Amino acid sequence: MDEILKVDDLSISFQTYNGEVQAVRHASFSLKRKEVLAIVGESGSGKSVMMQSILKLTPCIRKSGSIWFDGEDITEFDDQQMQKIRGSKIGIIFQDAMTSLNPTMRIGRQISESLRRHQNMTAEQARKRALELLTQVGINHPEQRYRQYIHNLSGGMRQRVMIAIALACKPKVLIADEPTTALDVTIQAQIMSLLGRLKEELDCSIVLITHDLGVVAAYADRIVVMYAGQPVEVGASRDIFYHPQHPYTRGLLASIPRLDADGAQELTSIAGTPPDALNPLPGCAFYPRCKYAMRICQDEAAPNKNFSESHCAACHIHDAGAAETRVKLGWRETL
Ligand code: SF4
Repeated sequence: MDEILKVDDLSISFQTYNGEVQAVRHASFSLKRKEVLAIVGESGSGKSVMMQSILKLTPCIRKSGSIWFDGEDITEFDDQQMQKIRGSKIGIIFQDAMTSLNPTMRIGRQISESLRRHQNMTAEQARKRALELLTQVGINHPEQRYRQYIHNLSGGMRQRVMIAIALACKPKVLIADEPTTALDVTIQAQIMSLLGRLKEELDCSIVLITHDLGVVAAYADRIVVMYAGQPVEVGASRDIFYHPQHPYTRGLLASIPRLDADGAQELTSIAGTPPDALNPLPGCAFYPRCKYAMRICQDEAAPNKNFSESHCAACHIHDAGAAETRVKLGWRETL
């Protein structure tokens, strides 16, 4: 099978004192073997929650949907079964190494513990492998770093340690949740190219979760654009960057500088704020912020329209009956 991870019609909710928060609604996507899939959207769009719920790392309620990993239906897996997958078959890197790593434990021990637990290594085997991993992720003087604590390291080095832990058991999938957000631009580029190199070396797939389309431009094979808990557009990177078909995707792209822009480029932000997940709108969630909105958008969710085998978007602007509206609203087929 070409797909290592497949999510079909997943809906996730949380119970809060104020009511039920519908964090993810009818999300479907797949991750192919050896690809980098970026999940992009504003803060609160449900991208991190969706991946955490797939790994059962968050106490949510699954309302619908199924999850397949490496040909196996893991939808109903309990915590014990998921523990065998987390860390060994699916590695995770979080945004903030300071809160994800243990500040009271030496770096070497944090890596070797994972190896001993998941790979039944002896203490000496795990130590040797941990040193190899520190070298593999580009940390100089690994023997010295092995004995240090995370407060002895810079932000970029901490992120490298997280990557070493995530890769310790040679996972088939690596989930990187905003791996570069807390880093400055040059270190961001180093971490992203490190992930790209390790993906090739370890033959794994990567899910890259980010709010920053600029970060994914050079690294992602395919992109899922999420808004208000729903994927609104899915496509190969070239589809998303050169032929975006959803107004939200266009809004995101208009807010980042483009190297292929002719002359001066005016950057614009998307006006308004995301909708309240406690009270989802009946129609299109982007309706209040969309400059192409039509009457139907308020009442009916848009169906997915396929533009090619790999590219689809959910927007009424592509309804057959909206051709005139497209022209009237000045919809351009490409940016
Ligand atoms: Fe805008 Fe309507 Fe498309 Fe929603 S369905 S993004 S409101 S045009």
